[in-house]
Amino acid sequence: MSFDSLGLNADILRAVEEQGYREPTPIQSQAIPVVLAGRDLMASAQTGTGKTAGFTLPLLQRLIDKQPHAKGRRPVRALILTPTRELAAQIGENVRDYSKYLDIRSLVVFGGVSINPQMMKLRSGVDVLVATPGRLLDLEHQNAVKLDQVEILVLDEADRMLDMGFIHDIRRVLAKLPARRQNLLFSATFSDEIKGLAEKLLHNPEEVSVARRNTASEQVTQHVHFVDKKRKRELLSQMIGEGNWQQVLVFTRTKHGANHLAEQLGKDGITAAAIHGNKSQGARTRALADFKNGGVRVLVATDIAARGIDIEELPHVVNYELPNVPEDYVHRIGRTGRAAATGQALSLVCVDEHKLLRDIERVLKREVPRMAIPGYEVDPTIPAEPIVNGRQQQRGGGRGNGGGQGQGQRRGGNGGASSERSNAPRRPSRPQGDGAAKPAGANGRRRPVRKPVSA
Ligand code: AMP
Repeated sequence: MSFDSLGLNADILRAVEEQGYREPTPIQSQAIPVVLAGRDLMASAQTGTGKTAGFTLPLLQRLIDKQPHAKGRRPVRALILTPTRELAAQIGENVRDYSKYLDIRSLVVFGGVSINPQMMKLRSGVDVLVATPGRLLDLEHQNAVKLDQVEILVLDEADRMLDMGFIHDIRRVLAKLPARRQNLLFSATFSDEIKGLAEKLLHNPEEVSVARRNTASEQVTQHVHFVDKKRKRELLSQMIGEGNWQQVLVFTRTKHGANHLAEQLGKDGITAAAIHGNKSQGARTRALADFKNGGVRVLVATDIAARGIDIEELPHVVNYELPNVPEDYVHRIGRTGRAAATGQALSLVCVDEHKLLRDIERVLKREVPRMAIPGYEVDPTIPAEPIVNGRQQQRGGGRGNGGGQGQGQRRGGNGGASSERSNAPRRPSRPQGDGAAKPAGANGRRRPVRKPVSA
């Protein structure tokens, strides 16, 4: 199938061609006709499948097909909600690229940066707004944006939005939208919670789905190295040095762990930067740019910060610490082995993490091959310690207790490291808030606990 046969106009096709896309990806060939037909859509697809063009291209076509009647300031006609700043910025870039030959204005708004420039830009009128929920509500609250003319709503990475506690914000946004509109929902997984949201949001939706990438990808070589916790850093430095790895994305469970590891690698002579929810937007953008252009060899990231980052042909992903939720493992290794490239995903697993590994392998439905590294044999006398951070602890009694959990430093098996999820910065009451991940559980809300996927 070619893009030409999908019903997109010449200006959009020209922009697509300039991106070097030769043919639509499966999600694009399935989703584009549905959106063009004006139907609601429930799409199962994750980052890397081409989903952004899958909703953006037909969305642009719909907008130019139907010029607005209203005179004066352009109203927001398409709203794309997304969980993270990075993803918002990436989608915004795509929207700009695909609409470069159209009379369409787009804008990206997210928290963590000054709100005033965003207010100024909104004042001159915007057709397509890409936003994180918190900042969007702040802007709406300050009358900087009106949402009553939205014709198309896209909820991107809906599962992650719920996981990050955005459900209340999403409901608040929905209440500002006109009842008659087209709704597109994209999610990598379809938990009962997502299905519940979809039921309320979507009218007679068409369902499309593309295979999960990398669950058992042949393109990604996966290995597990058993190693004592205290020797992980040494082993990682050795592997990077001996393998002469030039671009490595390393995952830690915590922000503190990410900072600490980046510092330690620096001391080993390996350029590294950390990226997580406590870093300013400028620092995150800079770190990512340095990593992409080869300025730093190692990017140490937490799951939330890395979500949605698209780095082409990333050769190495290292799980310095296994994630608490098996599904995050799949997301992590999905950062490598994209397109035609092959990638390598290594997990450094200490005695504390054996259960996490078993859970991951249950999801993958296979065992990840073990690889022994001489000189790093595990000391069998070291006892396992509980992993006291992230969701595991929340499950252990942190829910619905009025916000006592999820704040402050904790002591535990990881030395009191702060968790990306449980210890994200609290969003102050509006209007200063931002679109960053915020802890549900703070201000008394119940935090939705994502169930591990079973597929
Ligand atoms: P996404 O899943 O939207 O994050 O897209 C992942 C990557 O695929 C991005 O780098 C896109 O530029 C790229 N991409 C999207 N559509 C196509 C296509 N039809 N052909 C080749 N690459 C594409």
